[in-house]
Amino acid sequence: MSYYVAPLARLIEEFQKMPGIGHKTAQRLAFYVLNLSPSATDNLIDAINTAKKKMTYCPICQNLTDISPCAICSDPKRDAGTICVVEDPRDVIALEKTREYNGMYHVLHGAISPMEGIGPEDIKIKELLSRIKDGNINEVIMATNPTIEGEATAMYLSKLLKPLGVKVTRIAHGIPVGGDLEYADEVTITKAMEGRREID
Ligand SMILES: [Zn+2]
Repeated sequence: MSYYVAPLARLIEEFQKMPGIGHKTAQRLAFYVLNLSPSATDNLIDAINTAKKKMTYCPICQNLTDISPCAICSDPKRDAGTICVVEDPRDVIALEKTREYNGMYHVLHGAISPMEGIGPEDIKIKELLSRIKDGNINEVIMATNPTIEGEATAMYLSKLLKPLGVKVTRIAHGIPVGGDLEYADEVTITKAMEGRREID
């Protein structure tokens, strides 16, 4: 039995589906939306629609982009011989904020997790392999999260990549174990990158 009239209940329900949004926040957002002027409402809807329509995945690095290939992949000033492998587009943003890294990226969109039924074929590994087989890659930096899944993914990938003759390195553990790259501060990320070591 709901205390809300149907359209309001529906709006709250939609907000509650969002990550990190509990009932109270969902209710606050729903009331915020109800109080918006018609033009502000159109603006919000347009922002959602435009983002959904324009954002796509870069065919090279698999990062989110509105141009194809993405701005990083098409930047001639970046070092095309180095690929930094991350789990999530937000990790690219975290690394870019340091302004220290000048290579390319590859976004896996997840990590291998047998517990959650996520296998190598469920993340963008095939795409990474074909980039490396195309040649001219000197180093692949594993910047997956220092979690069990992130470590397992880094090890799995290094076993696949080494026979292809590329140097495979793992970022140092400046980032707390179990932590998330996207939440680490810029100095920590820079140190983790500088301290990277070859996986043997
Ligand atoms: Zn790209």
